[in-house]
This record gives sequence, structure tokens and C-alpha cells, in this order.
Amino acid sequence: PHVQETGRIDFEDVTFSYEGTRGEPILKHINLTILPGETVGIIGSTGSGKSTLVGLIPRFYDVTSGTIKVDGQDTSRIHPHRLRDKIAIVPQKNILFTGTVAENIRWGKEEAADEEVRAAAAIAGADDFIAASPEGYETMIGQGGVNFSGGQKQRISIARALVKKPSILILDDSTSAVDVATEAKIKAALKKYAKGLTCLLIAQRITSIMDADKIVVLDHGELVGVGTHSEL
Ligand code: ATP
Repeated sequence: PHVQETGRIDFEDVTFSYEGTRGEPILKHINLTILPGETVGIIGSTGSGKSTLVGLIPRFYDVTSGTIKVDGQDTSRIHPHRLRDKIAIVPQKNILFTGTVAENIRWGKEEAADEEVRAAAAIAGADDFIAASPEGYETMIGQGGVNFSGGQKQRISIARALVKKPSILILDDSTSAVDVATEAKIKAALKKYAKGLTCLLIAQRITSIMDADKIVVLDHGELVGVGTHSEL
């Protein structure tokens, strides 16, 4: 049977400068193909352009020159809302708001059923500590509510991304505050759940992305290496 594969991303000679800035572009002539279902690790020193690179995919910014295609379509011709229906991005700084845990996970997908919220939380490694708090998914976050740890907030943010059932999931250093064992559990759960899901993982620790299908190395806005961990 023909299986429609989604989640392909092509960068074609992409160059990018933030508007109003001078000097060297932040990304220079990036050529990169990410296949449906691939898990891709992105590494590079601070300021090398990792967050900028992934932010171009859902069109937080538009490319200065070159083309980005998602599933073969030039993203400059796709409405950002439609693009963001299939791309979920967990930013470096999680943005939880004052409200219940369930409300925070449902944000952007209000129609999600309770079971979907719980399933997303389970994959993100958040179900256990949420269920253990006195009011469970109705626990308030923020002012006057429970102060979850940095790593717990990261996991709630990952659950929020997963509940959207995206075809492309981008984690921008989203497990930096999570211990190594928990991180490994989340990655394993993601792999199992996410057959066919394209995953982009920005990482500081190489150990976080060792088993990625592909590792992309950025240096001063240039793509200086693509390959598996053993190839690089
Ligand atoms: P880190 O590992 O520290 O998160 P990074 O590799 O993700 O870094 P980016 O955040 O993409 O790097 O930043 C790349 C460069 O772009 C940096 O020099 C940064 O100062 C610059 N930059 C980032 N955001 C903006 C912005 N909104 N306006 C102007 N310059 C920016």
C-alpha cells in the first residue's frame, strides 16, 4: 500500500540575516535535506545559528535568499498558520502561563481530549509527576500555583508540542534541565510513538543525539558537517 510520507524538509542554498543587522549573515548557503521520519541532531557552539536555523522552518523569520521546502512545497508560499499546524517547536525558554497543567498542554489544540493530553504527557515523561501532584492535571502552574522545576516545565512544554500531533517536531535544547536517565526515557518513548515523525533536536551535549540518524554541525552560520555520529 502507498504510505504518504510527510515531514520532509529541504534547505536549498539558504542564507539569512536578521532584519536591520549588518555584517556577516547568521546563516550562509545552507543546503540540507531531512527525510520523513528522520531524527536529526543539530550541534554547534553558542551563537552558531542553531535556533535561527530551526526557526526558519515554521517561518518565525523569512529567508534572505534561497528556499526552504516542507514536503516539497516552498514554505514562502505556505501560510504560517498552516505550516505551524504540522510543525511543533519547543523553544529554549519554555513559555508556560498561569493556568492548569492541562490548559498549558492543550494550548494551541484546545479540542484535545483528556486522554490525548495524558498520552502526550506520558511520552514527554511528565505523566508521573503530574499525576503525583495533589490536583493532578488541574494543578495550577505559576502565580500561587505549584512551582515545577525547570526540567518538569520542559517536559510539560514537550507534551504541549506532542498533543498537536505534528509531522515535524523541533526540540530546541528542550531537555537541558532534565537528568540524563529521564532524557533517555523521553527519547525512547518518542522513537516508539513517533514512527514517521521527523524530529530535529538541538543539543548542547553530544550524548543527547548520539543515535540520531543524522547529525548536523553548524559553525559561525555554516554547515560544516553532516553524518552519523560514527561518520563525523
Ligand atoms: P545558542 O546555542 O546559544 O542557543 P544558537 O546556535 O542557537 O546559540 P542563534 O540563537 O541562532 O544561535 O543565534 C545566532 C546569532 O544570531 C547570534 O549571533 C545571535 O546574537 C544572533 N541573533 C539571534 N536572534 C537575533 C535577533 N532576533 N536579532 C538579531 N540577531 C539575533
